[in-house]
Amino acid sequence: MPMTAAHHKARALKPGSPRPAKTLCSECGLCDTYYIHYVKEACAFLNQQFETLEQQSHGRARDLDNWDECYFGVHQEMMAARKTEPIPGAQWTGIVSTIAIALLESGRVEGVVCVQNSQSDRFTPKPVIARTREEILAARVNKPTLSPNLSVLEQVEQAGLKRLLVIGVGCQIQALRAVQDKLGLEKLYVLGTPCVDNVTRAGLQKFLETTSRSPETVIYYEFMQDFRVHFKHSDGSTETVPFFGLKTNQLKDVFAPSCMSCFDYVNGLADLVVGYMGAPLGWQWLVVRNERGQEMLDLVRDQLEIQPVTSAGDRHAAVQQSIPAYDKGVTLPMWAAKLVGLVIERIGPKGLEYARFSIDSHFTRNYLYVRRNYPQKLAAHVPAFAKKIVDQYQLPAQ
Ligand code: FAD
Ligand code: SF4
Repeated sequence: MPMTAAHHKARALKPGSPRPAKTLCSECGLCDTYYIHYVKEACAFLNQQFETLEQQSHGRARDLDNWDECYFGVHQEMMAARKTEPIPGAQWTGIVSTIAIALLESGRVEGVVCVQNSQSDRFTPKPVIARTREEILAARVNKPTLSPNLSVLEQVEQAGLKRLLVIGVGCQIQALRAVQDKLGLEKLYVLGTPCVDNVTRAGLQKFLETTSRSPETVIYYEFMQDFRVHFKHSDGSTETVPFFGLKTNQLKDVFAPSCMSCFDYVNGLADLVVGYMGAPLGWQWLVVRNERGQEMLDLVRDQLEIQPVTSAGDRHAAVQQSIPAYDKGVTLPMWAAKLVGLVIERIGPKGLEYARFSIDSHFTRNYLYVRRNYPQKLAAHVPAFAKKIVDQYQLPAQ
């Protein structure tokens, strides 16, 4: 790429200065680089353009007449998988880190954009371009906070990297896809995770303090398929809190406005997505979107145990009931929350139906949030697939 490209004249914003997307900024990192030049088109919160970017990334937009595509995005295959030898300390079994290592060590990429944590704080994100197995492993496990993964993009061009893997969540990947042709790369692999309900570092503190018995010792947490939040503590113990017992009234304002306005839960633009919510407890859920995603999966297939995805139950009644609860911030007493959790776990949605349950609950909540707080953005910001999902439910009039 000639060093005269338009973005070279742009200047990154200073840390802490207002961002173009204002309150909706998810701190994806783009504006920490000279690629801010493209922010008006690239920012996920200023310019919703799933159809165009799906077309660019996968050769076609998702088929809205096919419910599986409407929910899970363009894909050629889905499965449940887990590593036969899990990586200790990974979020689940470490499939993401394993794929990154395989791409690097096979020479397919020269570097991996991923996020480690700062030395002083387990939950403060530190994006890096990893060039060794050790640096990739140091990025394992979720940083459950907004993370400026794209802030290292300038270094990609400066280091002259030509083949790159980027690991990221939906908002980061949307901006990345919009600028990928400007990075001077010959090949880009994109490995995504689903993402929902993220928080600032301060918001995370509030979540831990309202929800966990010992906020300062939490080293990991996840909202699991058994309708409980699982916290792991530094002494090795596990604490579980039922979803229905969360102090929704106090937590209402904890999630970042960007995440309350996001409809890309399943990371529709990545080549391959690795999550958990469409799989049985203990397993990970893989969505292969295109041939590049298939290539990544094939590299590590011999390290995985694989089974087909399944689906059971009917989410609709539970989602419809959750709408006013979310909206009004109702909190059940703990005994009732445990009871509801137990019943729902026995008879409730499982496998892909659990994933649909989670998508429906979040999309209806987020639709109401955008309608209330950003009414002028509603029509353009909510993609057609999300509108179709939300339209299955009765929403409060205002
Ligand atoms: P690991 O091998 O442990 O690797 C984790 C990778 O994630 C690392 O490479 C790291 O660079 C990257 N990463 C960590 N934190 C961030 C961050 N904040 N932003 C961008 N990249 C990051 N899956 C679901 O199915 N449903 C959900 O609701 C869901 N919510 C999530 C919410 C958040 C905030 C995040 C970060 C992930 C979420 N996931 C969700 C994905 C899931 O929790 C696991 O990350 C995924 O299954 C990979 O597990 P692993 O063991 O293979 O990852
Ligand atoms: Fe910039 Fe990203 Fe924030 Fe949008 S979300 S304003 S692209 S840092």
